[in-house]
Amino acid sequence: MRSLEQENRMLRQRLLELGREALHNENTFKRFHQRELELLSANSLPELLNSMTDGLQDSFQVKAIQLIIEDQEHDIRRLLYNTGIPEDAFPLVRFVDQIDSVNREYATLRLPRLGPFLSPDHDSLFSSRSELRSIAILPIFCRNRLIGSLNLGSTDSKRFTRHHGSDFLHRLAAIGGVCLENAVNRERLIISGLTDALTGMHNRRYLDRRLKEELARANRYRQPMSCLFIDADHFKQVNDTHGHQAGDTVLRELASRIRSQLRASDVATRYGGEEFTLLLPQTSLDEAKLLAERIRLEISSHPITLDSGEQIPLTVSIGISEALPTLGKASLEQVGEHLLATADEAVYRAKNNGRNRVEHCREDIRQQLPVDEVS
Ligand code: GH3
Ligand code: MG
Ligand code: MG
Repeated sequence: MRSLEQENRMLRQRLLELGREALHNENTFKRFHQRELELLSANSLPELLNSMTDGLQDSFQVKAIQLIIEDQEHDIRRLLYNTGIPEDAFPLVRFVDQIDSVNREYATLRLPRLGPFLSPDHDSLFSSRSELRSIAILPIFCRNRLIGSLNLGSTDSKRFTRHHGSDFLHRLAAIGGVCLENAVNRERLIISGLTDALTGMHNRRYLDRRLKEELARANRYRQPMSCLFIDADHFKQVNDTHGHQAGDTVLRELASRIRSQLRASDVATRYGGEEFTLLLPQTSLDEAKLLAERIRLEISSHPITLDSGEQIPLTVSIGISEALPTLGKASLEQVGEHLLATADEAVYRAKNNGRNRVEHCREDIRQQLPVDEVS
């Protein structure tokens, strides 16, 4: 009799435990579901990298997090940093050339690995590792190839142990991997639509986009901004004399010589054909004149050598315009249009005045940035 009662009590106790476990699992499921949704809803690569680092660190409440991504050709880094994002924008993301070289555990990593933090073995997995007692290494795969890992580190030795289930973490890392691949592809597509295939410089669509942004910034901080139009002289003759392919080589070299004179913040675009446009933030007309002269000399001082050894002398005509941070009534769009048009006019004058020279817009038609436009 007593034993039946005892058994009953034990069963009730077990039932209660199971109920608690089910509730705990449901809560865990909801939390993970939320984290997955956050990764899936990222609209861009930068947003995704933030969700996978800062976002997950907040959500997991862990001391350390590090996302390590293989980027053999520095492709992903270029996608990010060529669009103006500073290189220190993602301190919790580490790009490496070879994922295997980071840690020897990667060689056998197929599923999340949970356990104690062991120094020095695990040092390479975190940029900040003080007080870490337990860690979870979540491998990220792309089409069955390990392309990175998401590393979580806790100061609690019991937070991640071999006895914990890792199904949810495994799923989260898998979703992270797919999101990463998608975001990189999406970014590549956007960039390819904004890049000139021959020279690797940005194209006119990109210029249109950046022009408004840069004018708004110049307006906000009350800084001058200049614009250079560069047009190769008698380029048609290069094609006619040496052929179209040689012309292409000359254009590539021309772009490279222009680029060699620029700052990281300058926006260089191939406007079309043998014409290039540069936006120079925080640059006055006088500073732009110096740069234009440097570019002109860099191109005219030594001929361009083709693979065949043939030497092609080249010169350029450059026109400069400037947008000033003074009181003005025009909209940013009007200022932008005028900035390009006046630089174009100045090039025209340089051509008429003999080519291989720099001309600038007249001082009195320098564009005034509007003060009251909300950017
Ligand atoms: P100017 O000094 O007056 O600027 O003379 P120009 O010959 O440079 O100017 P024009 O506009 O008459 O000719 C530009 C030439 O650039 C014509 C075109 O065939 C050539 N061109 C445009 N795009 C490319 C290109 O992508 N590759 C090559 N090889 N040639 C190009
Ligand atoms: Mg031209
Ligand atoms: Mg020309």
